[in-house]
Amino acid sequence: MSRIAYVNGAYVPLAGAAVGIEDRGFQFADGVYEGIAVRKGRLIDLEPHLQRLWRSMGELDMDAPMAVGPMRLVLSEVVRQNRIADGFLYVQVTRGEARRDHAFPAFSRPSLIVTCRRFDYDAVFTRAATGVKAKSVPDIRWGRCDIKSISLLPNVLAKQAARSEGAFEAVLIDTDGNVTEGSSTNVWMVDGTNTLITRATSDNILPGITRAVLADLAAEHQVRVDTRPFSLEEAYQARELFLTSTTSGVMPIVALDGRTIASGRPGPLAGRLLAAYKTHMDSCP
Ligand code: PMP
Repeated sequence: MSRIAYVNGAYVPLAGAAVGIEDRGFQFADGVYEGIAVRKGRLIDLEPHLQRLWRSMGELDMDAPMAVGPMRLVLSEVVRQNRIADGFLYVQVTRGEARRDHAFPAFSRPSLIVTCRRFDYDAVFTRAATGVKAKSVPDIRWGRCDIKSISLLPNVLAKQAARSEGAFEAVLIDTDGNVTEGSSTNVWMVDGTNTLITRATSDNILPGITRAVLADLAAEHQVRVDTRPFSLEEAYQARELFLTSTTSGVMPIVALDGRTIASGRPGPLAGRLLAAYKTHMDSCP
């Protein structure tokens, strides 16, 4: 079955789906996006993803392409038309097509594209049982990483730097030597007192939806959470280190820059939180 995309008002075969070459997303990365998990046919944490999308558009003075009600329908319809049980839904809004000029155009219609592909969450959960390697990379991004912008070149370069050395994720390090987040994930550590530490969302990182869910689950499980920066040195010495994201769930990091983290095996807290996160996924409406 060929894949179906939604492009500016129409459901079309993905192969050959197109927007104009003067789309500001294409020329200026003037756009925002969301990535949403589909599990057993349901969109996981849809409402917080929609809220973050609307916030991103608002921060960039971008008009929404449609109201939130119709948007919910379009997203579900893309999942349905592609017959996806477990998958990854991608939603992108750009400022639309206009004659090339850096300043906002006087008029442009925002462009909306939605795609969905299969994604094997069970394989991710299996990988979490052994954990992944990560590599630290300088964080060279801009000052508004709270906006989920499609301008991802520093993230792309960081991920590639990690992958070219056989690591799954790049852990980004700011000029103070502190961990900001991953190239497409949030990063957490567990210290010697079993406190979970992760950087505050006010501190130029993406407010991850998985991060927010995990903070709630940690509170439910009486786990202390300290939202503060932590250094690369602290990360090397962590009792546990893990990352969170829509497509990684709760993923233990067992080696960072070739240094083994703790015993080199996923830790118990990450395991408990992953189990709770799976239950959360299964209980989403
Ligand atoms: N940080 C960055 C830079 C990301 O791109 C992502 C993935 N969207 C995340 C964190 C994790 O966010 P979420 O849990 O919403 O997928």
